[in-house]
Formats: sequence, C-alpha cells, structure tokens
Amino acid sequence: MIRFEDLVEKVRGYNPDADLELLRRAYVFSAFEHKGQVRHSGEPYMVHPLEVADFLADMRLDVVAVAAGLLHDVVEDTLTTIERIEELFGPEVAHVVEGVTKISTIPFSSSEERQAENFRKMLLAMVDDIRVIIVKLADRLHNMRTLHHLPEERRITIAQETLDIYAPIANRLGMSLVKNELEELCFRYLEPKAYESLRSRVAARRRASESHIDELKATIAAKLDEAQVAYTHIDGRIKRLYSIWQKLNKQKIDLDQVYDFVALRILTKSVKDCYAALGIIHNTWSPVPGRIKDFIAMPRPNGYQSLHTSVISERGAPFEVQIRTEAMHAQAEEGIAAHWKYKEGRVGDQRDERYFQWMRQLLEWQQEVHDPQEFINNLKIDLYPEEVYIFTPKGEVKSLPKGATPLDFAYAIHTDVGHRCVGARVNGKMVPLRTRLINGDIVEIVTQTSHTPSRDWLNFVVTSRARQKIRHFVQLEEKARSIDLGRKLFDKEARRFNLNPKTLVETEAFRRVADEYGGGKADELMAAIGYGRLPPRTVLAKLVPADQLQEKAPDGRVVSAVKRVLRVGEDRIKVSGVDDLLVYRARCCNPIRGEKIVGYISRGKGVAVHAASCSNVVNLLFDPERRIDVEWEKGTEEARYVVRLTMQVEDRRGILADVSAKVADINTNITSVEATTDQDQRGRIDMTVEISDLKHLEKVVKSLKSVEGVIGVERTMAR
Ligand code: MN
Repeated sequence: MIRFEDLVEKVRGYNPDADLELLRRAYVFSAFEHKGQVRHSGEPYMVHPLEVADFLADMRLDVVAVAAGLLHDVVEDTLTTIERIEELFGPEVAHVVEGVTKISTIPFSSSEERQAENFRKMLLAMVDDIRVIIVKLADRLHNMRTLHHLPEERRITIAQETLDIYAPIANRLGMSLVKNELEELCFRYLEPKAYESLRSRVAARRRASESHIDELKATIAAKLDEAQVAYTHIDGRIKRLYSIWQKLNKQKIDLDQVYDFVALRILTKSVKDCYAALGIIHNTWSPVPGRIKDFIAMPRPNGYQSLHTSVISERGAPFEVQIRTEAMHAQAEEGIAAHWKYKEGRVGDQRDERYFQWMRQLLEWQQEVHDPQEFINNLKIDLYPEEVYIFTPKGEVKSLPKGATPLDFAYAIHTDVGHRCVGARVNGKMVPLRTRLINGDIVEIVTQTSHTPSRDWLNFVVTSRARQKIRHFVQLEEKARSIDLGRKLFDKEARRFNLNPKTLVETEAFRRVADEYGGGKADELMAAIGYGRLPPRTVLAKLVPADQLQEKAPDGRVVSAVKRVLRVGEDRIKVSGVDDLLVYRARCCNPIRGEKIVGYISRGKGVAVHAASCSNVVNLLFDPERRIDVEWEKGTEEARYVVRLTMQVEDRRGILADVSAKVADINTNITSVEATTDQDQRGRIDMTVEISDLKHLEKVVKSLKSVEGVIGVERTMAR
C-alpha cells in the first residue's frame, strides 16, 4: 500500500516547485471525510484516492490533478459540497472534482455500439478540462485492478462499461498503457473461461518464446551496431492476451497462426534511424507481404507514430517488429500525458481528421507554452463542436446538431412523438419547445394524442428530419382545411343567391368546372377556393345563368328577383386561438379573443381576420365580395396573444420596476420590455405581454394606468 509521503516525494521529484502544502491539505481533508468508510476489499477507503493520485503522479501531472485525485470521491461519497472544495482548495481543484463527479452520475445504460460511441463523444464534449478525463481514467483503472473484490454482477457491469467507454477514450487520447491494461482486465472479467484457457496456452509457449525473443534481440543489436544505426532500446514481449484473443476471433485462426504473438520493439534517437533499422530488419529476415505499415508518415488519428513490419525468423516463426523514436514511444504509451514531458517531434500530416488536428493543436500549444501547468489550464476539449448529446429519461443517448430543440429530439425518437409533442421537460423542468439543448440534457417529451404539429414549428427546428415531417403534416392538413374552407365559401356564396349548393355540385356543369380547375376532382376545386385562388363567384357564374346572380343595387332596389337569404351561424368561419395559414389573424391589427372581428379573403392565403376597428378594413380592403363573417370559437382553450403596449411615462427612477411588478401581479407574462427617454424628458416604455382575451387586456391596461407616473397606455399596431 502506498504511503502519502511517497506520493509527496514522487511529485517533488518531477516538479520541485509544486505546492506540496496543497497536496497535504487535500490528503488530510479526504482522509477525514472518508474516515470509517471501507472498500469491498476490507481496506480503508483512503487507499483508493491515494492509489489514484499516485497513478496521476506517475504520469507526472500537475498538483491540481494529483490533489483532485485525492479528493475525487469526496463529493460523491460524503456530505461535502463542491462549494466547500472550492473554498478550501480553489476553483481549479473544485472544477476537476466536479467534472469527475458529474461523469459518475451520467446514466450509462446500453452497450449497443452506436450508443457507446455517442456516449464517448458526449463525455469528451462535456468535459472542458483534460484533467477530468485523466483523473477519471486513473479512478477507473484502480477500480478495475481491484475488481475481484466485488460481487460478480457488479464486476460484469463495470467491466463492460470500461470496455465500451473508458478503454476507447484512453485509446483516443493516445494513452495506450492505460488502454491496454483496462482491456486485459475487462477480458479477464467478461470472458473468464476464454481468458483462463488462453492464459494457460500462452504460458505454455512463453518459456520457448522468451528464449526466442532473447536470440532475436541479440541478433538485432548486432546488426544495428554493425550498420552504425543509433538505437537506445530493444524490447521483446509476448502480445497481450486481449489482442491475441481479438485476432483469433477476427481471423478465425488458431494460436499457432498468430503472426505477432511475439513482438520486438526498437527505440531510436531519430526518425532517420527508424527507417535505417527497418531496412536492416528486412535485410535479415523475409518480410511478410502486406504487413509493412508506416505510421510515421501517416500517423494514426490519435497521434500514434511507429513503423510496423512482420518478418519470418530462421525457425519459420513470424514475429512483429515496431520501430520508433523515444519521443514517439512516450506519446504512444502515455498519449497526451507525454506532451508535457517531451518537447520533440511532430511530423507534418495533412489528414483532415478533427481529433487528429486537435492532437496536433495540443502539440503546438505545448511548444508555445513552457509551463506545463499553464498548458493544462489553457486546455479545452472541443472535439465535436457541431453536435450535442442528449439523454432520454431511460439513459439512451441521441446525437443532434448543435442548436437542436426538444422538438428535434422528439422527431429523432419517432414521428408520432414529434407530431404529438405539446411540451418538454429538460432536466426535470418544463421548457419552451424552442429551447436550444445542451450537452448532457435529459429530455422528456410530453405528448397528447390529439395534438398536431404547427406551422410555427418550422421556424425553429434544425434537423432536416423534423422539418420534413412537420412540413409534410402541415401541408396535408392545410389541404384538408382548404377543402373544408372552400366548401363553406362556396355554400355561402350559393346561398346569397338562394341557390342550393348541394344540387349545384350534382350538375354536369359542376363536373366540367371541376375538370377545368381541379383536375376532375371536386375536392381540388374546393381547395382552390379555400386557398383563395379561385373566387366562389367565378365558379357560380359557370354553373347558373347570369340573371340569377344579381344583387341589391346600392340604392336598395332589388335588382335580382332572388331574395337574399343569409342563414346566420352556419356560414361563419370559426376562429380559434391558434393561427394557421387558412384562417389567420392579420398582423396589422393582431385581434385578440373577445374583440369584434371581420374576415377578409386574401388571394392565396385564405381568410385574414381583422379587428373590426382596423383601419385597413375600414379604409382599404372593404370589398363585400371578399368579406366574410367570422366569430371567435367558443371553448376553454387557453389562447395566448402577443400584444405590444406603449406607455408614456414620467421620467422617474424605478418606474420600470413598478410597471413590471404590476403586470406580474396579475399573472401576466412579459416577453420583452424596453424603456427609453426622449429629449423633452418624457419617458416611454415598450412592453410585449401575453394576453388571453380582451378582458385580460383591459385589466392589464387598467392596472398599468394605475401606476404612479404612467401618463398613457396604448396598444401598438405593427408597422
Ligand atoms: Mn473513485
């Protein structure tokens, strides 16, 4: 078991200026908080944070990271708050501890490959400090090393999660030592039988292999010396069980056929020596065709660089040789951790892979910044800047483009969930549907069976899927409504001349008109009327002789013999609170429920509903042909109308607050408010409020007028 004093010495060894006092305080605090807790192994809990911190020190991380390692479980497992950590150890340590704590609370549920990939991406995107990930990996590594103390069920869950999430993340960050150890441990717990059988078979071959490795090393050393190629190290090993096992499974071969069962590694001083060494290897043994790989010229996405080749030994046994510089080796083993130990060597590479660019950026930053601490401080991960990762309440992850809303999310789940969406809870709170989601949000969609999409949704969804589904629905619905509206308009027009619309549509003449305007379909003809493209009078004119279509002259004389009968009620268009394309509230006067209203058929757009007092209706648009009766639909449906109010006010301090408070008092939403003062010291407040009906508006205006200093209140029409 490691002692705290050993840890201090280790940190002092690579960082003589380190704030060891901070470490000491972190240790004492953590030990105090975890006092009495024990691990499954029966050891005191403090063993775990100490081991995690020790691993971080092995990677030569800064004091903040090591201290965070000591404190990483304090918030999760004790009553300590993150605020307390910040108070005692500063914002940086607190930030890392908070990040690690947050990761552990993410509900990871599925091992399905796509889910795992999304989860990994989200985890990386959520974290804004690389130390959070490194501490988390250290934590996971120690937990995996001590996994045998846990009950079997927990072992499998943790090992699976490690294999799906943490080993790939270590790989992505180029930390192959961590990745390899995690994978070996996962293999052991997830496939205990396969692991055990492979382990014993490999052990049986190990002795023979080991002497073989020694021979090979000696041969290589002699050849390199002879050719005067500068190398620093030759290493030989038997491949990891997990990688052998993967190979056996993938290639469906037996252990004897595994090429790189044995692997040799040559470390050199320079890149030139790498290629020289490769030449010598190929001169000595026959290379296996297709097995030579130049990861120096073409690094792997995670920054890995090396030359690989497989050759056949004198005994006919194939083995792999890896050749790289010491700097490349450090990078390969420790990934980003290596960047603040080595300052050498990056090879130009034009591949446009985002994370590789990011790796390169790390290298560049590292060369500019000489203080490792500063380097880490400035490090922000933004690997996937144009995506966000969102959870379903069951813990499934969905990836959406940045700026996506709960509606996009709803459509990503299922078209019906989108269509019926009436609201959304984000992290437990109801939010407007246009809310932009952020990484890690847990989103729950509220649906209602009878609910249908609104055209307005098209203004804020960002995914093409949602857009397409909404548009499709809205178009179908508009079509249906336009047919309905067209029929009403046609009926009304027919009744004006005392004609029976039911008989009219049965006539041969009507079928001809339908052929002409509706491609032979009565519905299409009605739709054309409903959309306002075809005046109902035009249709009537084609159905009956002109003398039947005469109206009262302006002087009241009945021009036509036909008595005009208007059946009130039936031919009214009902206007509900929701605007749509076919019946919509005119923007100029923006009428609200309870006001006197009048409808006006506008070509191609359906029926515009104006306030009876609207100047446009009175002055410009009054054309009896196109006027139509409308009334507010009865019902209890909660409508919300956006109304702009302008107040003339005295220029006094606090008036804005008084006005806002007054409006809030009567349970009215303010969507925006703005105060200005003009030259003659008169003030003006523009306010937008949500109003349910005329009574409500009157109440708001009245209470605004009662505020001291308010001179006048006016409803503002759109310009
Ligand atoms: Mn832990």
